[in-house]
Amino acid sequence: MARIAILYCKRIQDHSCVACAKCFKGMAEKAGEFARHDTIDLVAMTDCGDCPGLTVPRVKLLKELTRGLDREFDVLHLGTCMKIAMETAQCPIDFDSLKPVLEAKFGVRVVLGTHPY
Ligand code: SF4
Ligand code: SF4
Repeated sequence: MARIAILYCKRIQDHSCVACAKCFKGMAEKAGEFARHDTIDLVAMTDCGDCPGLTVPRVKLLKELTRGLDREFDVLHLGTCMKIAMETAQCPIDFDSLKPVLEAKFGVRVVLGTHPY
């Protein structure tokens, strides 16, 4: 069982995928980057912290909240929307730099991408 949290791009969530229906479909079908998990427990979804890449303080808050609820997550997915923003929309996040920081600071596995649709 993978306990996961998903971050979405604050600027394009609900524009690129209305109501995040694509990620819910991807989880139901274990498609795209969700295929790596046997079963999924979605703990939380929230935004990336906004530009210019305020993801570390956002994840800190998310970890504190989920710990307080006794619902900690092990895997953090940066949504496909964030991947697209990094590749095509001048998102300031550099995934290769951010991933080791998040993994070391918060003890979670970080995956770039979610659904494949
Ligand atoms: S990629 Fe996922 S998290 Fe991002 S907007 Fe689409 S459904 Fe939501
Ligand atoms: S462009 Fe990047 S930093 Fe800005 S809101 Fe989207 S994902 Fe977050």
